[in-house]
Amino acid sequence: MTAGAEAAGAGVAALALVGAWQRAQWSTSQIMGTTLVHGPNGRELALTFDDGPNERYTQEMLEKLEAAQVRATFFVVGKYARNLPWLLRQIHEAGHVVGNHSLSHHNLVYMTGARIRAEIRDCNAALEDMLGARVHFFRPPFGKRRPAVLRIAQELGLQTVMWNSMGFDWRSGRPPKQIMKAVERGIRRNRKAGRGSTILLHDGGPRGPNADRGRPVAALGFLLERGHAAGSRFVTVSDWWPPAQA
Ligand SMILES: [Zn+2]
Repeated sequence: MTAGAEAAGAGVAALALVGAWQRAQWSTSQIMGTTLVHGPNGRELALTFDDGPNERYTQEMLEKLEAAQVRATFFVVGKYARNLPWLLRQIHEAGHVVGNHSLSHHNLVYMTGARIRAEIRDCNAALEDMLGARVHFFRPPFGKRRPAVLRIAQELGLQTVMWNSMGFDWRSGRPPKQIMKAVERGIRRNRKAGRGSTILLHDGGPRGPNADRGRPVAALGFLLERGHAAGSRFVTVSDWWPPAQA
């Protein structure tokens, strides 16, 4: 083989590896380890909100959920929650599930095991201390994971939760109706396949505690109205885990 052909072969192999890595990072992939992605009933929808608490927009989400009598799951960033303990408690006291989204929302994939453990453990300790209640669920920042991330979460007693429907609500300027439509496409796809939907929306952002989330709030309003009208049932991830015994 010539040097040129060898280099081309290595290039193809590298590209294949990159492709395999990217597929393993899809939110529904189980290649890096088992995660909870959805429930067994196509009519069930679990709303999940990441990257809060956010003083303004988390409260607006809570108001919409309260008005619709719907419970949801909030994956919060530990360092934001520390500054807003009253809001964290408000989420919990309203009957929503509080989950761990790491202490500082860094990509855990490139960290040592010790740092991954500290990010997850210290977030859990902070949340449990503020809530006086156990935290059982974890979602990795950006959904990025490798086997060690999932193993460490499990060792800390946490079930990792991913998602299978999203509205790309973090893209700036995306109108609420477009967010809603993207989420509903996911729901339809899941329902056809006989799966429940775990919907990802954001009440906060990874760059700071005060992200502008007015558009996801408006999209949530549409989703609640239309979900009820379509005969869906809103649940939290704790309705799905641990799974019911057959
Ligand atoms: Zn996040």
